[in-house]
Amino acid sequence: MKRLPRLALAHLPTPLEALPRLSAELGGPSIWVKRDDQTGLAFGGNKTRKLEYLAAAALAEGADRLITAGATQSNHCRQTAAAAARLGLACTLVLAGEEPSRKDANVLLDHLFGADIRWVSKSGRDAELQAVYEHAKADGGKPYLVPYGGSSPLGAAAYAYALEELLVQIQPDWIVFATSSGGTQAGLVAGAKLLDYEGSILGICVDEKAEELAPRVAALAGETTTLLGQQLPVSAADMLVNDGYLGDGYAVMGNAEREAIRLLGSLEGLLVDPVYTGRAAAGMIDLVRKGFFNSQDKVLFWHTGGGPALFADTYARELAS
Ligand SMILES: *Cc1c(COP(=O)(O)O)cnc(C)c1O
Repeated sequence: MKRLPRLALAHLPTPLEALPRLSAELGGPSIWVKRDDQTGLAFGGNKTRKLEYLAAAALAEGADRLITAGATQSNHCRQTAAAAARLGLACTLVLAGEEPSRKDANVLLDHLFGADIRWVSKSGRDAELQAVYEHAKADGGKPYLVPYGGSSPLGAAAYAYALEELLVQIQPDWIVFATSSGGTQAGLVAGAKLLDYEGSILGICVDEKAEELAPRVAALAGETTTLLGQQLPVSAADMLVNDGYLGDGYAVMGNAEREAIRLLGSLEGLLVDPVYTGRAAAGMIDLVRKGFFNSQDKVLFWHTGGGPALFADTYARELAS
C-alpha cells in the first residue's frame, strides 16, 4: 500500500487481547478484542486513526482551524477537538441536538479541549457547517472541514493500514465491529483487497439499514483502494453488514446494549459504550448464541471506543439502576 502523510496522534499498535471468560460463557468460538478504545488521545477511539491522516492534510494546507459536525455525544467531535488542541489549531464543532443543561461526557470533554460549540437541529446541521466554514474564511482564517465521522477516502485509509497492523497480531476468521459513517468498514475492506485478507469483515449497523449503508461504504472502499495505489472494484455485494440490531434507532440504548455492557464489564473488565460498541457487541453475542460462527473460528471484535458516553446522564442513570 502506498504510504500517505501521517501525523502521530495515536498510540499504535493498539493491543490485542483474548476474551476467554466471554468465550467460555457463550460456549462459542474464541473471541478476541482489538483495543482501538486505547488509541491514546482523549480517551481513544477509531476517529484518532483517521485524524492522523486528515489532520496531516489540514496542516499541509496551512489550516488554522478544524471544523466538523456530529451528534450531541459524538466521539468523532471529541477526538477532533483534542487533535486540534494538540496541534495548536482552533476547532468549531456543529452538534446536532439540544444543548444539554449540564455539560456531560463527550460534551464536557469538547469544552475542556477549548472547542467552539454550535448547537443546531439535525436538519440545520449541513447549512450551519457550511456557514461556519464560510465565516471562518471571510474572517481571513484557513479552516479545514473534517468530513462526518472522518469518513472520506483519506480517513478510511487509516483502517486499511490498521488491518495491516492487526494481521501481524492475529489472522482472525471474522472481524466484527460497529459501522456508522462507514469509514472504518470501507478502510478494512479496502485493506483486505490490497492485502489479500480472506477473512470476513462484518459491520453491525448502528443507525442505518444495510441497503442504504452497503452501497455507500462500497463506493468509499473503492475510492480508498485508488488512494492507496490500486484501483480495485468493490461492490455492495462485497460488504457484510447486519442491520438486525438497530433496536429503537441511533443512540437509543435498549436491553441488548445494556446486557452487552454488563456482560463484558462483569466477565472481562472491558467497557463498551451505549451507542456503538455496546450495540455491535450485542450483535456479536447474539450471533454466537445462534451458532452463526464455526466453533473453530477466531472472532475478532474491533473495539472502536465510545466509552465516555457511559457517563452521559441519559445513559448513566439507566445503567446505574
Ligand atoms: C464513529 C464510531 C464508530 C463507527 O465508525 P465509522 O467509521 O463511522 O463507521 C464506531 N464506534 C465508535 C465508538 C465511534 O465513535
